[in-house]
Amino acid sequence: EDSPTIKVCVRVRPFIKEEVEGQRSGGECKLCVEMPTETSVRMWNPEEIEEDMRGFEFDRCYWSHSSDNPLYATQETLQKELGETMLEHAMNGFNNCIFAYGQTGSGKSYSVLGGKGEERGLLPRVVEGLFDHFEKLPEGATYKTLVAFMEIYNEQIRDLLAPATDSENKKLEVKQHPVLGTIVPGLTEAAVASCEEVLNLVDYGTQMRHVSATAMNATSSRSHCIFTFKTSLTEPDQPSKVSQTHLVDLAGSERAGRTKATGDRLKEGAAINQSLSTLARVISELAKSSKTKKKPNPPFRESKLTYILKESLCGNSKTVMMAAISPNFLDFDETLSTLKFAQSVKQVQTKAVQNAVNMS
Ligand code: ADP
Ligand code: MG
Repeated sequence: EDSPTIKVCVRVRPFIKEEVEGQRSGGECKLCVEMPTETSVRMWNPEEIEEDMRGFEFDRCYWSHSSDNPLYATQETLQKELGETMLEHAMNGFNNCIFAYGQTGSGKSYSVLGGKGEERGLLPRVVEGLFDHFEKLPEGATYKTLVAFMEIYNEQIRDLLAPATDSENKKLEVKQHPVLGTIVPGLTEAAVASCEEVLNLVDYGTQMRHVSATAMNATSSRSHCIFTFKTSLTEPDQPSKVSQTHLVDLAGSERAGRTKATGDRLKEGAAINQSLSTLARVISELAKSSKTKKKPNPPFRESKLTYILKESLCGNSKTVMMAAISPNFLDFDETLSTLKFAQSVKQVQTKAVQNAVNMS
């Protein structure tokens, strides 16, 4: 339980309608991954004559491809294993971070936000769990929750909870605070009292995200989305517990950090996703120093995303990476590069300590 590493999970989605109907490949869609156990994933290229199996081990592999498999994992499975753990950490004064990584269409948003009813993802379930917990607190306990929701597009931070008229002009920056760590001054932090209130804010922010993407003629797959909640909890005769939890839906990883991309393609990828390529460099730097026991010097400040997630990646946080992958052989190269990246994240060692500072 007190594992000093970033927990790395993989999840494979079902074939989606377009794939089943053959609109993508012009033919039958072929499966190229399997999960023989809850901690291993194997993939092969069905187009190769000698199908070369590639195997990877992770902390947890979620098979969400087909429900006939006894290892089938639903949204509820993720909540039970990841969501509830995050909540427990938060209530005990530890910071949390979960980030979903993977190519566009691999299931990142499905895991983090999800759909309606049983399809709702980690975010709504964790928030529900949070308020359930609060309701059951003993007499005399007090608590407070603040939420923030932001987007990073082209190295610009956008406050998704700001009134629509404000957000265009407001330039937000990441700053280092001597006590609070990394902060984004001016970012809306809404005090919330119920799950419903939070979900309304998330809906509002999600709408804002679509509006801005359309205005910039971009797609939201190119932006990173960070939802944060801070809690402070005081129970009678106990020290106060404060914590911060980030749920991050990263931009599509396609093209970022790919070795095959050259020239203009590489430049475009880097410009669009400086944050994602910096994340890769930060991780590899941290992994290197974990091995050699040298003091790491990762380039956190070179991108907004890594600066904001600094403490989650190297310090005071229990962090989970969710690598989302496609089951489709057409995505073989992207899936392989996602799994390789996930493998490198597994090398990183961190150590979370309980928060001592009070939330102001
Ligand atoms: P991303 O955010 O990585 O671009 P999405 O989360 O939007 O990808 O998923 C792509 C499509 O696959 C969506 O239609 C989504 O509903 C579907 N999908 C992804 N994961 C699952 C899953 N575990 N079960 C059912 N449908 C899924
Ligand atoms: Mg998405």
